[in-house]
Amino acid sequence: MVEYVIANGKVYTEEGVLDPGYVKISEGKISEVGQGEYKGNLEVVDASGRHVLPGFIDIHIHGGYGEDAMDASYDGLKHLSESLLSEGTTSYLATTMTQSKENIDRALTNIVKYKSSQNKEEAAEIAGVHLEGPFISEHKVGAQNPKYVQRPSVEAIEHFQHTAEGNIKIITFAAEVEGAQAVLEKLSDEIIFSMGHTVATFDEVNEAVEHGAKHATHLYNAGTPFEHRHPGLFGAAWTNDGIHTELIADGIHSHPAAVKIAYTMKGNQRFYLITDAMRAKGMSDGEYDLGGQNVIVKGSEARLASGALAGSILKMNDGLRNMLNFTGASLEEMWRVASLNQAIALGIDQQKGSIQKEKDADIVVLDNEMNVSTTIKNGKLHDFKTQ
Ligand SMILES: [Zn+2]
Ligand SMILES: [Zn+2]
Repeated sequence: MVEYVIANGKVYTEEGVLDPGYVKISEGKISEVGQGEYKGNLEVVDASGRHVLPGFIDIHIHGGYGEDAMDASYDGLKHLSESLLSEGTTSYLATTMTQSKENIDRALTNIVKYKSSQNKEEAAEIAGVHLEGPFISEHKVGAQNPKYVQRPSVEAIEHFQHTAEGNIKIITFAAEVEGAQAVLEKLSDEIIFSMGHTVATFDEVNEAVEHGAKHATHLYNAGTPFEHRHPGLFGAAWTNDGIHTELIADGIHSHPAAVKIAYTMKGNQRFYLITDAMRAKGMSDGEYDLGGQNVIVKGSEARLASGALAGSILKMNDGLRNMLNFTGASLEEMWRVASLNQAIALGIDQQKGSIQKEKDADIVVLDNEMNVSTTIKNGKLHDFKTQ
């Protein structure tokens, strides 16, 4: 189908919900968005009783479906990218771990190789790289390997950015360590610096924002906690409008009430739903590897032998359902935390992030329980079974 119409569903746009609305797709792009019934002659994909949203953009994901970006496997990234369509994800940042320089270089080289040759109709698209570490605090490693923690330097980051051919979009770093300020001053115009795996105080966090830090990584995890006399990273993230925050909405990394507090404080424009998923997503319980460390997956939790949470096995559509349940907000208000905010942050909102004429036809169709029934990637339909 080169040209067709998704009709009869609720279409979520930046201007509001069209109920019913229709979306015309031509040659991989959105060519028309309209209110009411579609009356033309094109083939119709019926979305009645369903929600039509822009495809999800996951800016923090290590892997899933048996694969991990650190494996530096071309076929592995291909399999991961193809599998992500089943959860409605149409773009993502391949996310690296705190590892040796050589291993990070290998992963980056492979990401660039796959990204430059990938089929954008058959798989979620790599929009770049999220470098998680190695410039973090040894006092808040979480599931990162403390052996490979480094201090940040312009030279080290430029090295990785060179290997990645300019594709590093986000770096998770510790704002308080030696070298962090110099890096922010030199590189924060071209890379988003996201504070995480950090023991920065409230004042240090706010100072880092003045020097160019913009995000908080997986809020409430591996950061300085909120205490009423020492509000820490989390208190700063709540109160400083210069900080946009990621959050893993799986109900395990944060209590639902903590998710609601974060969303209430940040609103729907400064909030990014992420998965932070590792390779066990979409797989059965058992033992898996994360950045060279053994992880035990049981039920919906992934932990190191020490008990530390080791990434998630969350899917984006499940995270969106949780966001609605935890906060009580409507989908009309919430949809953009899974797509548009990320597209704006990455500077790709001219092509992606909302259902709008001339943007790429990257769309997800969901039922009322947020199960994915269809994902459309560059105009190509991928159907999935829902109960
Ligand atoms: Zn982390
Ligand atoms: Zn992570």
